[in-house]
Amino acid sequence: MSTRRNFIRTVCSGALGASCVGMNHARILADEPTAGTSNKLGKMNLSFKPYLLTLRHAFGVAGVTRTETMGVQVEIECDGVVGYGEASMPPYLSESTESVLAFLKRVNLEQFNSPFEMDDILTYVDGICDNNAAAKASIDLALHDLVGKLIGQPWWRIWGLNKEKTPTTMYTIGIDVPEKVMEKTREAKNFEILKVKLGRDKKSDREMIESVRAVSDRPIAVDANQGWKDKIYALEMVEWLHEQGVVFVEQPMKKTKLDDIAWITERSPLPIMADESLQRLTDIQRLRGAFSGINIKLMKCTGLREAWKMLNLARALDMKVMVGCMTETSCAISAAAQLSPAVDWADLDGNLLISNDCFEGVKTAPNGKLLLSDKPGLGIEKLDKPINRLDTII
Ligand code: MG
Repeated sequence: MSTRRNFIRTVCSGALGASCVGMNHARILADEPTAGTSNKLGKMNLSFKPYLLTLRHAFGVAGVTRTETMGVQVEIECDGVVGYGEASMPPYLSESTESVLAFLKRVNLEQFNSPFEMDDILTYVDGICDNNAAAKASIDLALHDLVGKLIGQPWWRIWGLNKEKTPTTMYTIGIDVPEKVMEKTREAKNFEILKVKLGRDKKSDREMIESVRAVSDRPIAVDANQGWKDKIYALEMVEWLHEQGVVFVEQPMKKTKLDDIAWITERSPLPIMADESLQRLTDIQRLRGAFSGINIKLMKCTGLREAWKMLNLARALDMKVMVGCMTETSCAISAAAQLSPAVDWADLDGNLLISNDCFEGVKTAPNGKLLLSDKPGLGIEKLDKPINRLDTII
């Protein structure tokens, strides 16, 4: 064991504190003498570049359809160890490739002595400006990956989670014509739970569900993406969906219609989950009662540091928790998967929806169960050649 490695482990025990360093790590520390170490970690080097993600199928939600989407890949290097992060910017949020790159150019990590100053670093990054959550998340993810690698532990273990408790991820069926919906559903035939996008009119929404049901009797989660205009109609749809084997409904109406959503939730036979109504930690308290639970997405909440706090606050408020994603590579999906043993549902199929995934990370079993590894950090490795991941599991 090198002197530098001993130094890293000594530093991390102080930086992270006993509360978040599990027994496994304590044992590693005890095994290795640290007296006399004097090496210091070098400065952190930040680099980033755009990366165009190509979609397997044109993807439709209420209001927009797309065939590709731009992301930004981020690296933070320190003493030869590289942490990877990613920003993904769906069109319905306010970030673009240009805004993410402009934000990242403003980030100066050289002012910090060590990646283990995570809380100071991420507080500084969050304070650079008000918005830019995905850009902030890309730094947060790269830093978590780097620190986990320096410690030699994955984040699920640092948080004290049990990797056997990961849920099965949903596989998303976007809005499309019946033949395409049936084709996509057949493609996902082994997944234990499907997620179906609704939010148009009664005829189209029922046709979507009936197309899925024509080829699958698996449980369905529904995402209305704020699409329903009227609370009485929305409740009628929720009751009909309950009869169709739906397990929850996400964001039935516009985020501004909180009173109407609370009215639906009070009467609904199904949990009503918040997505667009929710961004960050400070939003959760006011949503209690209006929704049954929250959908945490790293790109909206600035990354894993805040996501972990959100998960714990929601639990303390007796709310259900799911972890969701954008269309993104196995880098960001593996980051979100680190939290997944602690959630009720996972919607982490963003890497399965693209044909050029450039990371190896969390695996998906044929039934959709997320398979976390013991690899440190986010549990990822960069691939030389991008792959079409869904081809590898079905
Ligand atoms: Mg949603």
